Amino acid sequence: MIELSARVKTMTSSPTLKLVQIKKQLQSQGKVILDFGAGEPDFSTPDNIKNAGIEAIRSNFTKYTPTSGIAELKKAIRASYLAEQGVEAKDSQIVVSPGSKYGLFILLQAVVNPGDEVIVPLPYWVSYPEMVKFCGGSVIHADHLQSQPRFELTAASYISRFSPRTRAVIVNSPSNPTGKVMSSMQLAELIAFFHQKNVLIIVDDCYRKIMYADEAYPSPLALLPGAREQVAVVSSLSKTYAMTGWRLGYSITSESLAAAMTKIQEHSTSNPCSISQKAAVEALSGDQGAVRSMVEEYRRRRDYFARRVDEIGHIPYALPDGAFYFFADFSHYIQKKKFQDDNQLAMDILEKLNIILVPGSAFGAPNHLRISYATSLQDIREGLGKLETYLKS
Ligand code: PMP
Ligand code: GLU
Repeated sequence: MIELSARVKTMTSSPTLKLVQIKKQLQSQGKVILDFGAGEPDFSTPDNIKNAGIEAIRSNFTKYTPTSGIAELKKAIRASYLAEQGVEAKDSQIVVSPGSKYGLFILLQAVVNPGDEVIVPLPYWVSYPEMVKFCGGSVIHADHLQSQPRFELTAASYISRFSPRTRAVIVNSPSNPTGKVMSSMQLAELIAFFHQKNVLIIVDDCYRKIMYADEAYPSPLALLPGAREQVAVVSSLSKTYAMTGWRLGYSITSESLAAAMTKIQEHSTSNPCSISQKAAVEALSGDQGAVRSMVEEYRRRRDYFARRVDEIGHIPYALPDGAFYFFADFSHYIQKKKFQDDNQLAMDILEKLNIILVPGSAFGAPNHLRISYATSLQDIREGLGKLETYLKS
């Protein structure tokens, strides 16, 4: 048997992506599954974006492209970012990658040395700790499970974990799994502190266009202009434009960091898919009406969810300000049903109700469940009805 590398041996598989496979398996056995698992929009990619992809194929735009992305897409990223965030970026600061997941991966590979510490939020998106460990880094948690109000993303939670070995911090706002958004005051405090300590501040804002609050998304690159070199933004088209399968994300960083990330991309994927890049140009510069209606629909679902979860009772949660996840404490029902933990509860719900939920342990938060509402209101109504009967029985 081939001996695997030490770094891959310690890597765990992605619990969210595993659920996507489990769903497909169950469906192939003829089961009807209600999927509140993986965070993937149930909407189709809007037609104008699909057509741009089809046109790219028709016009033979099917060859290698520049590693860090085509000029036309960088121009669209610059223009949309300027209009939305009031921030000007140069092409040399932008790296387009096959999904923001890969963008984040090469960003961490470019800065983290073995022994370095990276502060990640708790609860965390499942891939952060694995990526940090893959670089040989140590994961330190900025704890938002203890926050008051519930799950609030605070600067203090990061600052209190700083050590001379801290190399980078990851902020995820709106957060997966809680949907919480870090306020501009907290973000400014965080940036000011870590800038002065020469620590890289990574902001994963892949849900920033899915927000329900009235106030604007605080721009990490504009809050403290003097700290810009020290802030790296990682963004995605996956969620905003329902483009998960196209694999398209982008980062805006300092020029030297972008050059380092480009080198890693050169030797690993060459470039993001040429067709997806053309589709992304249309996504960012075309009509944004589809995004507005998707966000409106997510808001309706969130409000319905909150009302129904309140009716069921004994499920403490924080109302999400963004993204499309409910993250809630199911301790009461885990005890009532005499389960050991959230994994057992989620498994029992899957077996008995054919409903997929993600155990909170996957995000470092035992006794919780993540419920994605990137699924139709009809499924949500049916799923919550079944869940209520089950939990109360
Ligand atoms: N960051 C967060 C917080 C996510 O939830 C996801 C989920 N897909 C990603 C990054 C990666 O998205 P993608 O690679 O599809 O751009
Ligand atoms: N980010 C989504 C989720 O958390 C999709 C799966 C993944 O990439 O982890 O469910």
